[in-house]
This record gives sequence, C-alpha cells and structure tokens, in this order.
Amino acid sequence: MSAAQWIVLKFGGTSVSTKARWATIGKLANSRLAEGGCVLIVVSAVSGVTDQLKALIEAEPAARAELAQRLVEQHRAFAAELGVDAAILAEVEAELDECLSSPHAAARAFPWQARVFALGELWSSRLGAAFLTASGTTTEWLDARTQLSAQALPNQGDWARHLSTTCQVQHAPALAEQLAQAGRSQITQGFIARNLSGETVLLGRGGSDTSAACFGTLLGASRVEIWTDVPGMFSANPRRVPQARLLRHLDYDEAQEIATTGAKVLHPRCLGPVREGGVPLWIKDTQRPDLEGTCIDASGGDGPLSVKAISHRIGVTLVSMESIGMWQQVGFLADVFDYFRRHGLSVDLIGSAETNVTVSLDPSENLLSADTLEALCADLARVCRVKVIAPCAAITLVGRGMRRMLHRLSEVLAEFGEQRVHLVSQSSNNLNLTFVVDESIAEALLPRLHEHLIRARVMAVDDARLFGPSWEALSAPEDVTLPLPWWQRERDKLLQIAAEQGPAYVYHLDSVRNQARRLQQIEPVDRWFYAIKANDHPQLLQALVAQGFGLECVSAAEVAHVQRHCADLDAARIMFTPNFAPRDEYRQALAADVMVTVDALHALAQWGEDFAGAQIALRVDLGPGRGHHDKVRTGGSASKFGLAPSELAQAQELARKVGAKVVGLHAHLGSGILDPQHWAEVYAQLAALGERFVDLRWLDIGGGLGVPGQGERELDLDLVAAGLAKVKALYPQWALHMEPGRYLVADAGVLLTRVTQTKLKHGVRFVGVDAGMNALLRPALYDAVHPIANLTRLDEPATETVTVVGPICESGDVLGRERRLPASVEGDIIAIAQAGAYGAVMANRYNRRPLIAEVLL
Ligand code: ADP
Ligand code: ASP
Ligand code: MG
Repeated sequence: MSAAQWIVLKFGGTSVSTKARWATIGKLANSRLAEGGCVLIVVSAVSGVTDQLKALIEAEPAARAELAQRLVEQHRAFAAELGVDAAILAEVEAELDECLSSPHAAARAFPWQARVFALGELWSSRLGAAFLTASGTTTEWLDARTQLSAQALPNQGDWARHLSTTCQVQHAPALAEQLAQAGRSQITQGFIARNLSGETVLLGRGGSDTSAACFGTLLGASRVEIWTDVPGMFSANPRRVPQARLLRHLDYDEAQEIATTGAKVLHPRCLGPVREGGVPLWIKDTQRPDLEGTCIDASGGDGPLSVKAISHRIGVTLVSMESIGMWQQVGFLADVFDYFRRHGLSVDLIGSAETNVTVSLDPSENLLSADTLEALCADLARVCRVKVIAPCAAITLVGRGMRRMLHRLSEVLAEFGEQRVHLVSQSSNNLNLTFVVDESIAEALLPRLHEHLIRARVMAVDDARLFGPSWEALSAPEDVTLPLPWWQRERDKLLQIAAEQGPAYVYHLDSVRNQARRLQQIEPVDRWFYAIKANDHPQLLQALVAQGFGLECVSAAEVAHVQRHCADLDAARIMFTPNFAPRDEYRQALAADVMVTVDALHALAQWGEDFAGAQIALRVDLGPGRGHHDKVRTGGSASKFGLAPSELAQAQELARKVGAKVVGLHAHLGSGILDPQHWAEVYAQLAALGERFVDLRWLDIGGGLGVPGQGERELDLDLVAAGLAKVKALYPQWALHMEPGRYLVADAGVLLTRVTQTKLKHGVRFVGVDAGMNALLRPALYDAVHPIANLTRLDEPATETVTVVGPICESGDVLGRERRLPASVEGDIIAIAQAGAYGAVMANRYNRRPLIAEVLL
C-alpha cells in the first residue's frame, strides 16, 4: 500500500486574521488538492491573541475575567465576520472557563500556562474548519495533541519542558493513510502538543512552524509551505533593512543557522524535522501568493562563497566569570557549567581567556527571570567573580565557509570597531560569526553592516540562483523600470572604440552635465566647485566651468592645468586645498591669486611672510571621518587632513600676526557618503565655529556625495537640500560652498578592456583582461566595487561566477570578485562601469604597461 501524498500548509497569525486571508487559504488549499493528494493546514492563533493570552496569564487573578471576556467576544465577532456559527467555539470557551477557575491559576503553574496559551490556536483552527467547510472545501478539525507528542530532554528545565519543548517525529505511512481516509483536507493547530502524561505542552513562541515541520515529516509530505507576511526569508530582517535581498534557495543547514540566530520568519526548531524527513520547505507570502518565495531543501552547498544573511537576537544576557585563579584546575569548568545545568539554563555562545570565561544566554531558549539569574549568580559567586551584562544583542553573519571570507570583512569589522563589542564567536561548523553588543546599538548597525557586505561582495547578490530582489524593490510599484545606463545604450559605439583603440576610458559628457544640473537644484548652496582630482580631462573641466562650476585643485600642477585649459576662469573661482604640499606650491598659488586653504599650523607659523595680506581659508577636521572605506575617510584622529578644532584659535592668531584674513572655513570628512543628513551636520558644526572669525564670508562643507553601488539607494538630494536649508536659515550671513568630485563624473566613465585569457583553477574561474590595476587602481586601493559587464555578450544570461583580473604581476590585481557573467572568451570586450572618477587620473605605468587612452563620446 503506498501512503497518501500530503502537502502541509502553515499559516501564521496575520495570515489567519481576516476573512480575505481565509479566502486565500481556501484557494491555496484547493489548488494543492488539485495536485491529487491531501492537505493539512496548520494554523497559528489570530495575530495578537497569543500576546493577549500572555497578558491574561501575567495578570492578577481578579483581572483575568475581563481579559478573557474580551478574547471571547473578539473570536465571536470574527466568527460573525466569517459567516460561521459562533456555537463552534463553545468547547474552547468552556476550556477557558475551566482554566480561569483552575486551582493552578493562582500560582501560574507551567502546565496551566500551556493550557491557556493553547486556546489561541484552538480558536483559530475551529473558525478555519467551519469557514473552509462552509466555503465548499470540507475540512476536518484535527486536535494536534493526538498526533504530536513531546519528549522531555535530559536536564531540561520545567519551563522548557512545558512551554518550549520539542517533538521527535518519524515518517508514519499508516498515519498518513489513516488521516487521508478521514478526509483529504484537514486543519490543525500549530504550537501545541501533548507530553507523555497527556498534558498540553507548547513548542515555544513562534512554534507553529515547528508543528508544521513535524507534521510534514510524520506524513512524509511532498513539501511544507510556510505562509506568512513576507515573501520569503531575506538576507536580513526586511523590516529593519529595506535593502535586504530575497534568499531564493537555502540548504537546511544555512536556513537553520539563519533561523537560530534570529530570523523570526522561521522557528529555529522547525528545520530539524524537515531535514530529518528530507521534506522541502517553502516560505511564501499569503498576501502575494504568486511571488516565488524561498525554497529550503538538501541541495546546494556548492554555490559561491557568500554571506547569506545577517541576523540578530535581542534580550541576550551575558554572564562574565572572572577567575580567582582556578581555571587551569582539572574539572573546574565542568563545575561552573554544572551550575547552569542545575538552573535549567542552556548556554549559547562561549568566549574564554586566561582568567575569564563569558557565556551568553538566549531568551528564546531560557526563562531569564531575575530570580533565576540571581540564584545562578549566587551559586557562581562561590567559585568566581560574576558580572551580568544585559540587555545585549547578538548580531550574526551566516554563510557556509565563513572562515574563508574573514579577510573580506574588513569594513564590517571596522563598523564593529567603533562599538563596544562584548564577545565575538565563530561557530565551529564554520557557518557563522557572531558579535555581542549592547542591545541599544544593534538595530542601527544592521543596515550599515548589510551595506558593507554587499559593497565588499561578501554577499554575492548578483548570483540570481541565490539572491532575488530586495524587499524594497518587491514593495515598490511594479512599473518603475530604470533607464539603461548610457554605456549600454551606446554599446555599438563603445565596441567600435575598443576595436580601434584597445583598452580605453570612455566618457559621456551629457552624464556629467546632468549630474551638475541635479546638484544645482540644491538651493542653499551658493557656489559649486568641482574637485578636479577625480578626473581632470580638459573637456570635462570646460563643460563644468561652462555650467557655472568653480574648480578645486590640490596641487600647483593642478592649478596650472586649470589655468591652461580654462583660461577664462576667474582666479577667485579656483580653490587650492592642498595637504602637506611644499612651501613653493603655496607661493605659486598665492601669486596666482587663487583661494588658498591652509590645513596645518606649520604653514602659518613657518612661512608667515608668504601669507601677508592674503585672504585664506582654514580647513578643519571635524572628526570622525565618514565614507565607504577607511582609505577615503579624511577626518578623525588618524587622518592627516585639517586642523583640529582646538587649534583654530591659534591658527586665527597666527593669521592675524602675518596680516592674513580668514575668509573661509572648510571641512571635508570623506567620500561615498549616502546619508543625506551628513552635510547639514557638517554645515552646522562648521557654522558654530565660524562665529569667532570676523572676516568670514563663506563655509565650504566639502564633497563626498555618494554614488550608489548595486542595491544601494541613491542619495536623496531633496533631503540634502532640506537639511542644508535649515542650517542656512540660522546662518544666512555666510555663503555656502560645496565641492563634489566623484558624484559628478563616476557614472560618466567606463573602462573598456579585452579578455586575454580564461582559467579555471581550484574551482575558481578567472577572466583575464588587458587593463588591470595599472589602469584602474580603486579595487586594489579601496576594495571599490565597480559594475562589470561583458559588453560583447550583453544580452546573454549570466551563467558563470568569475573573478576578473588584470595583467599586472600583483595578486592584488583583481578588478572584481564573484561576478556573474555570461561565459566569456578571449577577445570579448568587458566594460567596467562607474570608472569616470579616480580612474585615468590614478593610472600608472607599473610593469611598463602604457597609459591607456581617454576618449570622449
Ligand atoms: P508568522 O506570524 O506568519 O509566523 P512571524 O512574525 O513569526 O510570522 O515571521 C515573519 C516576520 O519575520 C516578518 O514579518 C519579519 O519581520 C521577520 N523577519 C525577521 N528576520 C527575517 C528575515 N531574515 N527574513 C524574513 N523575515 C524576517
Ligand atoms: N501563536 C504562537 C505565538 O504567537 C505560535 C505561532 O504563532 O507560531 O508564538
Ligand atoms: Mg512565526
């Protein structure tokens, strides 16, 4: 006899809380029934009900009747909305009454709590059975406690044994058959089971997923579908990180790790049963059933090296134990951990040092009441000095092969470097890396960390087998298709240029002009300067000058270059903002009458006579630096730029002595900044310093406007403008200057290069091109990530994950890692985009390779 084929569908709280959602459940059940087998629907309590039951449990006995009545009325009203007879709820209401009058109610005994909590799922499943049957899909009501039985685990505390327990299940073909005979459509409760004494027990908060997984394995289901309020598992909680990407496919181990470390979308204990039974598990969105969702099964494991997700748990408690000289003693740690066992506490992370052991306790696995902790500490105090650190948050990066990615996490580590990290732990299964920090800082960190992971390509988001769209994109109206970038529209011309010139930078002047116009919409800014170090191609400078930009130079040679190619530009519209330049360059700039910025006392103290009668600006380091990489941050104590605010008075005094007037204050803290509030903050700080300078005419708040990489949101210039306007209203007496560089030109340039050779070594596929770090230094210097496309095969699907490398004899000569490209062959033209800034200007002749051509389109 072959057992009946089952599909298990689990619906979470929000998925069962309106009539429309129940209609969807009916449709989904019918479409699964149409596949020929049977369906088991597993439901949670209606959204919010479990929390209300919790409040009832925690309330004083006298206050419970009123809370209970509210729940009764709420469910009766829902029955009316669904058009079913409220009499079907009588049994649940009777059970509620019994609980209220139970002798265990006063003491809130754990078995009593479990009975009260179970009411939520009993209510929703009764309503569902009646509604689905009335809608034409006869659906039997099944008491989950008749099928799922929980075993107490060794050392399990009382709380866990009743309120957060587990079931061991195995495929039972006879049961699958027997249930099918009883009815092809069945509905049952998530969250609840029975123990060996027949009492009601719970699988832990959020445990309905685990119920569904247990049923899936028990029935040998062809799949378990978890229907919830998000369209799948994401690379971070999408409600905290809108840029989080859909995870299309995961294997059981990775999904387990993501769930255990905090992704609430799956209950951590639900992966065990499906893995055991080899049942695929899908995560889908009840409101948008057509979206693909996430599929979790046993396949995979051989995909690209990638961090898959960043998750976090709050409410974590750290127990730090300082030794009083006994760590080395045999069996000492066993004694310490025995105390945790005795208090029924399960330890999560462990960090140890010569004289200290620190462990973390996870709130979902433990009842972390003040009493329990106090009792634990009292015991531990006998053998060590104890300190409890709470509330903490554990932030975890999950991905197979974490150790092999460590060297690419520098920006993530830098982010943590600015915080107080209590504990770092790398799991022995090589799947995760966890940082424990104060709870208050965790949520703000998540989007930044996610951004770093994408930027550094440690999250291989362009591998379409693994990653789908971002939450933001899925939530956006569908018809916003982005225009093609210019270099894709001009593909034929570019291919021709590459054929004629060999490797070349190609610039698109219209893109530069467009960016300039967008900036000029920012009303509070009175004068714009272009930082020419980003790209000093004469025609590009002329185009910007024609559009009203001044030019900002950092060397005497740049000033001379500007004077040569933009002869009509007024000297007052040229800024000279050098750093550690020799005296001679200042002299030349002063002689040329351009605006000179001084950023060290040395210049004024040692070369005072050069500045006699001059109008100068002072560059201030408002610290800490900002930006996408350590090497582009130009503020903070380690930075060589600017005067410390505490040196300003002295600089002012020196200037007065030599007869120079300070007419400008300048600050620039870094580049690649996408936070629209940044410039208003700099403006306000600079303005506050301005009050003491009587001759002050303008403030220059620098540049650093970020150019979004893949998956990043554009800098919102309206927000930038609004922030600046507020500060301007307070300081209308000074003109406002800004000096962007990269923002104007990055997207206007591509580097064209030709495939020289391909190589597959140790499983890594290399595509070699004829321009490397000699032509484009940014990837090697800043770990910069440039979009890379095979221009010859623009229309072919990306089928390979490759590392794109140049011809320079340096292992750092890598233009891009883990890129998805069509299969590329010798002679193909590769376009490296966003190369208009800091590309050609940084090119060099290393290895005696010639400088490459620059072409204007
Ligand atoms: P249900 O009531 O359907 O069981 P849950 O609230 O338990 O739903 O789980 C869904 C929620 O999980 C989402 O609304 C989301 O806020 C949260 N969540 C946390 N981390 C993730 C993640 N990595 N991917 C998707 N959702 C997540
Ligand atoms: N209703 C239970 C809870 O809110 C179980 C679940 O929804 O998964 O925790
Ligand atoms: Mg849930």
